[in-house]
Amino acid sequence: MEIKKKDIRALTKEQLRQFFVEQGDKAFRGNQVYEWLWQKSAHDFDAMTNISKETRQMLEDNFVINHIRVDQMQRSSDGTIKNAVRLHDGLIVESVLIPTDTRTTACVSSQVGCSLDCRFCATARLKRMRNLNPDEIYDQVVAIDNESRLYFDRPLSNIVFMGMGEPLMNYNNVLKAIDKITSPEGLGMSPKRIVVSTSGVPKIIKKMADEEVKFGLAVSLHSAIDEVRTSIMPFNATFPLKDLREALEYWYSKTKNKITYEYVVWKGINDTQEAVDALVKFCKFAPSKVNLIEYNPIDDGEFQQASNKAVEMYQNTLERNGITVTVRRSRGKDIDAACGQLANKQ
Ligand code: SAH
Repeated sequence: MEIKKKDIRALTKEQLRQFFVEQGDKAFRGNQVYEWLWQKSAHDFDAMTNISKETRQMLEDNFVINHIRVDQMQRSSDGTIKNAVRLHDGLIVESVLIPTDTRTTACVSSQVGCSLDCRFCATARLKRMRNLNPDEIYDQVVAIDNESRLYFDRPLSNIVFMGMGEPLMNYNNVLKAIDKITSPEGLGMSPKRIVVSTSGVPKIIKKMADEEVKFGLAVSLHSAIDEVRTSIMPFNATFPLKDLREALEYWYSKTKNKITYEYVVWKGINDTQEAVDALVKFCKFAPSKVNLIEYNPIDDGEFQQASNKAVEMYQNTLERNGITVTVRRSRGKDIDAACGQLANKQ
């Protein structure tokens, strides 16, 4: 009977050290292998050149390295790159590299598909197949860092969890991945350059606050009126705005980190003065800023980007109330790499 080998990267450093001790080797060997697995992103045991051949064979007999593979890379006319990433079990997720003059941002996925049901998002149409493991999230970042160095001559500078999936529905693995990304034993990036974007799971936002995480939080709000929000993001019925608001107030009281609200203005849905006023009120519960993002059409016209006039009304009203607002244009639209367009279309 074939024994199913364990993914070696599911082990902590301490577990790896312990494994070597049990094998009659030195705990230090565990440190060496750990460095190969994370800092050096080795894809196979044979790459571990300072480990003896016998030890490498022994590792091979006991473990696998479930490394991701970038199956297809598409480049947009604006420089954006989209990777179709194949996981060890054949499933595919997507991640995106977004270059600007000063930054390279990686937009990474946290789940295969998504269990939420936002009606304007292409990923929502793929049902949630499974959560990504910490190493699968980490590998997406490494792949984009390599592409950034290769095509833009600089390392990756920022990470946003705005790809496929709801990061707070896979919180433990996202947190473990961020630990590796920020650790000097991994990529050594500053947590201040990482933003986790969520549709808003109040209980987990409170947990993050209690753990005093150091990365940023973005909330996909899209409406500050329950009735409207539930009609476009049905899970809002389970996590209503009152609970979200309370969790965000708690987040700010613990972390003193401003919250970013992501917001699309759609024709006939939230392009009214009443909608803006509700947003202004919501923004006052905890210090925040608003990103007005452009709608990336995914369907036959049920949702349509509101007029420039409506977006200006939002901008002016927010500014008048002392709330920072940015209007963000989407990148990578021609290769379906923009927000909400990730749906494994090639
Ligand atoms: N589940 C997380 C992260 C993935 S979505 C979240 O909800 O935040 C990343 C961002 O893209 C969210 O702000 C989401 O509301 C937005 N988005 C989804 N579909 C979109 C579309 N078609 N056009 C523009 N933005 C969209």
